[in-house]
This record gives sequence, C-alpha cells and structure tokens, in this order.
Amino acid sequence: MTKQKVIIVGAGLSGSLLAIYLAKRGIECEIFEARGDMRKETMSAGRSINLALSNRGIAALKEVGLDEYMLSEAVPMFGRMIHALDGSRKLLPYSGRKGEYINSVSRAGLNIELMNEAEKYDGVRFYFNEKCVDFDCASGEAEFESGKIVKGDTLVATDGAGSAVRSAMLHGGVPRFDFSQKWLAHGYKELHIPPSQNCLRERADTTRHFRDSTENPSAYADGSDVFQMEKNALHIWARHSFMMIALPNFDGSFTCTLFLAHKGDNGFEQLTDEISLMNFFETNFADAIPLMPTLTEDFFTNPTGNLGTIKCFPWNAGGKSLLIGDSAHAVVPFYGQGMNASFEDCRILNGLLDKHGTHWETVFDEFTNIRKPNADAIAQMAEENFYEMRDAVADETFQKKRALETKLEQTFPDYFSKYSMVTFREDLPYAVAKQKGNAQDKLLMEICAEIDDVSAIDLNEVMGKING
Ligand SMILES: Cc1cc2nc3c(=O)[nH]c(=O)nc-3n(C[C@H](O)[C@H](O)[C@H](O)COP(=O)(O)OP(=O)(O)OC[C@H]3O[C@@H](n4cnc5c(N)ncnc54)[C@H](O)[C@@H]3O)c2cc1C
Repeated sequence: MTKQKVIIVGAGLSGSLLAIYLAKRGIECEIFEARGDMRKETMSAGRSINLALSNRGIAALKEVGLDEYMLSEAVPMFGRMIHALDGSRKLLPYSGRKGEYINSVSRAGLNIELMNEAEKYDGVRFYFNEKCVDFDCASGEAEFESGKIVKGDTLVATDGAGSAVRSAMLHGGVPRFDFSQKWLAHGYKELHIPPSQNCLRERADTTRHFRDSTENPSAYADGSDVFQMEKNALHIWARHSFMMIALPNFDGSFTCTLFLAHKGDNGFEQLTDEISLMNFFETNFADAIPLMPTLTEDFFTNPTGNLGTIKCFPWNAGGKSLLIGDSAHAVVPFYGQGMNASFEDCRILNGLLDKHGTHWETVFDEFTNIRKPNADAIAQMAEENFYEMRDAVADETFQKKRALETKLEQTFPDYFSKYSMVTFREDLPYAVAKQKGNAQDKLLMEICAEIDDVSAIDLNEVMGKING
C-alpha cells in the first residue's frame, strides 16, 4: 500500500493532536496554519488563556502518551467556588468521588506541546502564515492566500469556528449542506488576577521559585502564598443575567472571564469609561476589585469576544474532506467541553482508522454518524449550563440538589450526576449523558424543592426512584 498523505488545515488544538495520531500510524501530515508559529511569536491577549481539561480530553491525550505531562502542567479544580454579593464564598464540589476533578491548563502551553510532539515524527511538516481561502470538494485541492495549492489523499479541516473549508462545502461544494450559526446575546472579555504581591516582590528569581513549587503550586519554596484566592477551584460570581468566572494558572495568577450581554442593562455597551466600569464592579464584584490591579487597563484593552453555536451536516465531502473540532461543532464554553469534544473527535477517528484502514469515505461517513448526535447533545447542554452557572448556582434549591448529588456519589459507586457523566465519563457518549442526566436532574430538583435539610433524605429511596 502506498504511503498516505493527509492535509490538515489549522494547527490549533485539534489539528495538532490529530497530526500526532496520524503520524503514529505512519501517515504523512502537512499542517497549514493561518497564524505565525506561536512558539516564536507572542500571543495576542484576550483569547481564552486557560481551559478546563477533563476526562474526555485526557483520554485522547493518553492514547498518544501525553496525558501525564499535560496534567503535570495543570492546576486541579475540585469544585465551583461561589462568590456571593456580600463577599461570602462557598465551595460546591464537582463530584462526591475522590479523583474526579477538572484541570486548568494553558491553551498556548498545550498547543505548543502538541506541535512539538507532532514534529518529532519524520512525516509531519507545519507551514505557518498559510491561510486557507478555498477548497475544491471535487478535486480535493485546497487553496491558500499565498497562492499555494495543495492536495493529499484527503484533507481534515481543523480550522475552527470560522472554517474556510466548511464555507467551501456550504457554498456549492456539498449538495444540501445544512448549516446554522446561533449567536448568544452575551459576549466575553478576559481579565486578570495576578499572583499575590508577596510573590511579585520575589519575582527576581521566578524560575527557581516556580520550579521549586511544582509539587505544590499554591506556595513558594519559602512558604509564601502564590494564589490570591483558593487555587483548586473554578471561581464563579453568578449574578443572574451575567457572571464572571476565574480559572487558576500554574504561575499563581487567575484568568477571569466576564460574560455580559453585548447590549442593554448590565451589558458591555454601558461600560464605556472607568467610572461606569468601577461602579459596575463595586455593585457586582466588589470582592474581586482588590485582586485586579489592572482591571481598567485589561477591560479597555482586551477584545470582547462573541459566543455562538455552529451546527452543520454532513461533516465530510465524500472521502475528500472531513470537518472536526470547532469547524464541525463549535459550542458555547459553559460546560468546558469544546476542546474536550474536539480531542474526543481525534480519538474516535483513530478508532475508525483501526477498523476500516484508510478507506477515507467509509471512515468519514461512520465518524459523522457517530459524532453528530453527540455534538448536538453537548451543544445543547452547554447552552443550558450557561443558565445553570449564572442563575442556578446561586439558587437554594440548586445548591441542595448539588449537595444531594454529592452524597449520592459518595454512597453509590454507580451513581453519576449529569455533570459527572459529561465531564468524568469518557466511556459514555454525550447524547446518553444528556438523556439520563436530564431525567435525573428533573427528579432531584423536585425532591429538593420540597425539603429543607438534605441530610434528612433517604438516599436508598432516591436511588430507587432514579433506577425505577
Ligand atoms: C472563552 C472560551 C473559553 C473556553 N473554555 C473551554 C474550556 O474550558 N474547556 C474546553 O474544553 N473548551 C473550551 N473552549 C472551547 C475551545 O477553545 C475550542 O473548542 C477548541 O479550541 C477547538 O479546537 P479546534 O482545534 O477545533 O479550533 P481552534 O482552537 O480554534 O483552532 C483553529 C486553528 O485553525 C487556524 N485557522 C483558522 N482559520 C484558518 C484558515 N482559513 N487557514 C488555516 N488555518 C486557519 C486558527 O488560527 C487556529 O490555530 C473555550 C472557548 C472559548 C471561546
């Protein structure tokens, strides 16, 4: 059999991971990336600096032997730390089981490591500053802004939510191509909480300090605190129609993401100057202000991002091209699953190559049929989780339900909350997690609406109802 060559468009998270999977099979990969090489250039600010990596993503990294290294660079987050308006805080664990937590990882660090790993294989070549502008679904040729035209045995598009390859499939390349793009009324802006002042004073020998604190990133070798808030949590300031979250970084800082409506009350358009911004923060996030010395600068410098859900079908043009990751199914970030789902795409695709070899059309058809219902399921759950995060986490019945779920998980090894099924069960397709999880959620919310004290609930009776 002749050696196969795959063109990959986009050297982001899924493109770089896919290159490793394919290279391990002896398939040659040429990866074309619109931006420069992030290993040599400084990243622009404001583009999701850290991400929550969970079991589905970890399972995909494990298959290429990168899970342990990536986790050694991550900060575990055991639960949601809810910041109330009065400044009080409460931790809601993600799971009642030990060992079930999510991990805050650096987007750039992860991407760079994936590219470095891919480049270790002889058959892998990256081309930067190469923006794909068109794809011919009949001939399989991809055209780039530079004038370059390339063709392999097939092409995989990992060029993200604004995919040029998908656009070519939509505009005549694939007959009856379904496409929808639904924008959220809310956008996002990234803000920053630096490491504590003590640490900043000691920055002269930063490298040694961080190396020394690898085992316990909450403290420097001399015992001084690095993080200004609880480090092992995803912090949430839920304020009903809007919210702010913060994820810890390995260097002791936090990356905050402020989610506001673009327009209207408490929206981005109302925050036009320092006074309106500070008034808004004093009313809604007063406890965060002392932690954010560059709040004004960050707010007015960093871009406001849009959030939306993209759905399309089919994901392939016969055996000529396949869309994976955000190019096929961009979702809003409220379940922390976009990257995890994209990594899972790579793992499932690799399994189908085991099954069918490089019969690309067969592999791509089956991949699309397996993944599409699951992508639709996580898209819907991610939208719903926005309302859970901004409204429900501050709601009493919801907090009782989380306490009950934690007790059920501590007591019954077979019980998994919807969040746990999505986040910690890589063996369970998203569509199954959604269907089972919604039924459980409805039942538990009904039970918790009726009681004051979760400890009075008969757990066996609840389990009977769940299983019945
Ligand atoms: C605010 C925010 C927070 C998020 N948090 C999480 C989280 O906590 N956990 C999680 O799992 N997911 C999260 N996500 C989702 C996650 O970022 C995406 O799902 C993930 O990046 C998808 O990877 P990808 O490789 O498909 O696309 P991308 O990461 O977008 O990569 C696409 C690549 O293609 C390149 N490219 C684009 N167009 C072209 C072209 N025409 N030609 C050549 N190259 C091109 C781009 O430059 C880029 O390098 C978040 C997203 C946002 C916006």
